[in-house]
Amino acid sequence: MAKIISKLPATSPSKISSLAAKPGQTKPATAKKPSKPKKLKPWTPAEIVAAFSRFRDANPEPKGELEHVNPYTLLVAVVLSAQATDAGVNKATRALFAIADTPRKMLDLGEEEVRNYIKTIGLYRTKAKNVIALSEKLIAEFGGVVPRTRAELESLPGAGRKTANVVLNMAFGEHTMAVDTHVFRVGNRTNLAPGKNVLEVELELMRVIPDEFMMHAHHWLILHGRYTCLARRPRCEVCIINDLCRWPEKTV
Ligand code: SF4
Repeated sequence: MAKIISKLPATSPSKISSLAAKPGQTKPATAKKPSKPKKLKPWTPAEIVAAFSRFRDANPEPKGELEHVNPYTLLVAVVLSAQATDAGVNKATRALFAIADTPRKMLDLGEEEVRNYIKTIGLYRTKAKNVIALSEKLIAEFGGVVPRTRAELESLPGAGRKTANVVLNMAFGEHTMAVDTHVFRVGNRTNLAPGKNVLEVELELMRVIPDEFMMHAHHWLILHGRYTCLARRPRCEVCIINDLCRWPEKTV
């Protein structure tokens, strides 16, 4: 018996029935192969220069929208902004930073009070804990000053790669690329920097954007995603890079 079974073809019964010819058919039915997504043309260096020149002409000094008064408050604002809008963070931090704009003052305020100030922001309990813990660490290990290296910044409670990129760029003028939801979408949709995750998009943007634009590239792309290349209904008709964009569904 075992011998007979071993001689049967390795095709499952359901497959056999789907391949069998139906009455009136001459050939067996075959499943339609899904068509491969079309490979989009990569941007040329000249096109990238053209796009960023237009962003620069339209907005020579783009500003981030997270309110802060020094590198420390920028760091805290970025930590608070995870899964929250900049507007929502600003609403909470205006009053908080008015009384606590240094690690020492934040510790004096204490976790419970910090929590009260930021309770309109998502995950506020964990974030209040992190703000206190990072302030303690800044005092204990960095003389109360925000460190200037990626590794040190990423070692702070609540701070990850994106936080480090924002602080390095905005507080210390380094050419970094923080990828948020807007930058991720724009990078992929336009095919300027396609990537499966934020790190891939970040590294690709760093690779293709010329140095002369890197200081502001992060803000130009965020603002482009926030106000023009919207997630649900991109405003292609007013987009200043619509002739360069590779998105097959663009409406121009
Ligand atoms: S053309 Fe449309 S999809 Fe392309 S970048 Fe502009 S707004 Fe976005």
